[in-house]
Amino acid sequence: MKADLVIRNARVVDHDGEFHGGVAVRGGVIVTIGSDEALPEATREIDAEGRVLMPGIIDPHCHLGVKYPYPEDMQTETAAAASGGVTTVLLYIRNLKESYLPFYAERKGLGEENAVIDFGFHFGIQREEHIAEIPEIVAKTGVKSFKCYFGYEPDNPIGIVPATDGWVYAAMRIIAGIPGGVINVHCENTQIASWIKNEMKRTGRQDLGAYTESRPAFCEVETIRRMIFLAEKTGCPLHLVHTSVGMGPVLAAEARSHGMDVTVETCPHYLTRTCYDEDLDMRAKISPPLRDRSELEGLWRGIKNGTVYSLGTDHVPFFPKKGEDLWNELPGVVSFPWELPLMLHFGVHQRGISLSRLVQLNSYHPARRFGLWPKKGAMQAGSDADLVLVDLNEERTVEHTGKGTCIYEGWKLKGWPVLTVARGEIVYENGAVSEDYGRGRCVTLPA
Ligand SMILES: [Zn+2]
Repeated sequence: MKADLVIRNARVVDHDGEFHGGVAVRGGVIVTIGSDEALPEATREIDAEGRVLMPGIIDPHCHLGVKYPYPEDMQTETAAAASGGVTTVLLYIRNLKESYLPFYAERKGLGEENAVIDFGFHFGIQREEHIAEIPEIVAKTGVKSFKCYFGYEPDNPIGIVPATDGWVYAAMRIIAGIPGGVINVHCENTQIASWIKNEMKRTGRQDLGAYTESRPAFCEVETIRRMIFLAEKTGCPLHLVHTSVGMGPVLAAEARSHGMDVTVETCPHYLTRTCYDEDLDMRAKISPPLRDRSELEGLWRGIKNGTVYSLGTDHVPFFPKKGEDLWNELPGVVSFPWELPLMLHFGVHQRGISLSRLVQLNSYHPARRFGLWPKKGAMQAGSDADLVLVDLNEERTVEHTGKGTCIYEGWKLKGWPVLTVARGEIVYENGAVSEDYGRGRCVTLPA
């Protein structure tokens, strides 16, 4: 039977190997994967010319609808993601009301009216009622991933409600009993950071390094250690989000060696930027902060030796930053379109990271961690046809035209996505991104 789409003559790369050939797609799923001779005829046939075909990126960490309206972000930012080879995004979203159930229905509905690619959710624990509601949330929404936030003071300008150790412990105790459940923690010791911040403010410093030094690496290491301890006591799977310190993967590996389920995420900015880069100022404020060269190298070690589990961008579009006051600037940058080029340039080309390792970090592991595999993150018959075709040799300069703050403007990177296929449909090709808003579907669904 004729396929809808065939991509042939590709270097097909999965999380555990590669071969020369291609894939055939029908009805949004992969129907054949193998050598070119094994592929059927198709309505649309693409010759990959030997370029790399990988599973689409699953970016498990972003924040949409924080400052700009949610439906608008779901259009503009998921389109930006598609241009970067991303085929699924998972949003960390917060709801200050008592129940997550109406919030889920609203966000899922608006998402499906506006998103270009598939999306799903993690929910933030923002009040005590959310903890008791976890079993019902799991049953009625399919969301099994919950987040607690440290490092934010109660009057923070984003409106995040910081967790207490009691909240974390109580949530872990419940999540430990949920198959596939996981707690995500933003690890930074809030009290120590706010103490040092007050000292630092008095110095009058406004440079990016002052922000980093006001919340040093040990603040993050301390909370990682405490969370691993609580995870051990409760038996709860723990995901350490946006890890910025080299000790993160070391501590997680130690916990895993005791049989614990602890995983580490890091972000492209912690691998490519330091707070002392001369071209950066307070607009590059991120939470946790960009750190120094030795932390950056520690994270690359974790990428190389397998102790960093996955990558997420922490993409968050804020209004243009003012650059007036370091302490009032909102922390966060955008990265969807450049995460893959950054990893190809700095990881694959400069540091010799294998493409299969990149697929683990970008697709396979996020899919495993958040219950999407093998529908997502797999190159096999029956899986969603979420694919990205990459030109390893294309050199292009980063130009940011969308929302939010880009900290890579003007960087010439080698290795770019040239085609993105989401559930069998081409959503990015030859520099043009789909405007088919509302084709994306929610992937966190009740069982
Ligand atoms: Zn985040």
